[in-house]
Amino acid sequence: MTNRILFLGPPGAGKGTQAERLAADRELLHLSTGELLRAEVKAGSTLGQEAEAVMARGELVSDALVLAIVRHRLEAHTGGWLLDGFPRNVAQAEALTLLLEELQQPIESVLLLELDDDELIKRLLSRGRDDDNEAVIRNRLVVYQEQTEPLIAFYRSRNLLVPVDATGSIDAIAQRVAAVVG
Ligand code: AMP
Repeated sequence: MTNRILFLGPPGAGKGTQAERLAADRELLHLSTGELLRAEVKAGSTLGQEAEAVMARGELVSDALVLAIVRHRLEAHTGGWLLDGFPRNVAQAEALTLLLEELQQPIESVLLLELDDDELIKRLLSRGRDDDNEAVIRNRLVVYQEQTEPLIAFYRSRNLLVPVDATGSIDAIAQRVAAVVG
């Protein structure tokens, strides 16, 4: 069984939904940097104020900021985890590798949820989050292609990448995810 898993894939592919389900089934920690940042924005913290405008544009908040959040959570946790929405670029992935070496908790599997752009936009528009209007969605897809997609090659070259078909219902995708994590 795989207990340290990273969810990779474009916005709208279902990373959050699938990570949440799997975490509940396996009693793993679900760490979503997007969720944690939204909570900071809602709480009006200094960190949230710093992140709010950047998130509203669909850009990435600073590496240092998200890294501090992830480090804080992982250091305080023993047991398995699922990372969702982090890393988002190669610098974050390299920093994560170092952090996990330090914690002696290497990633066991990187699940790449695959779905084409038309389907992604449809799903995102039906979600109705603040940063889900069409212009921002398109920007988030561009940011994904430019900054996050290089992580596919990064993890493939480390023999960690497992592609998962992310079409169909939440249950259908969950079954495919369960099959690959064992
Ligand atoms: P998500 O819920 O993963 O779609 O994230 C929502 C927004 O939070 C993104 O569009 C970014 O502005 C920000 N965000 C989430 N995770 C990260 C990350 N790892 N690095 C930088 N920004 C992030």
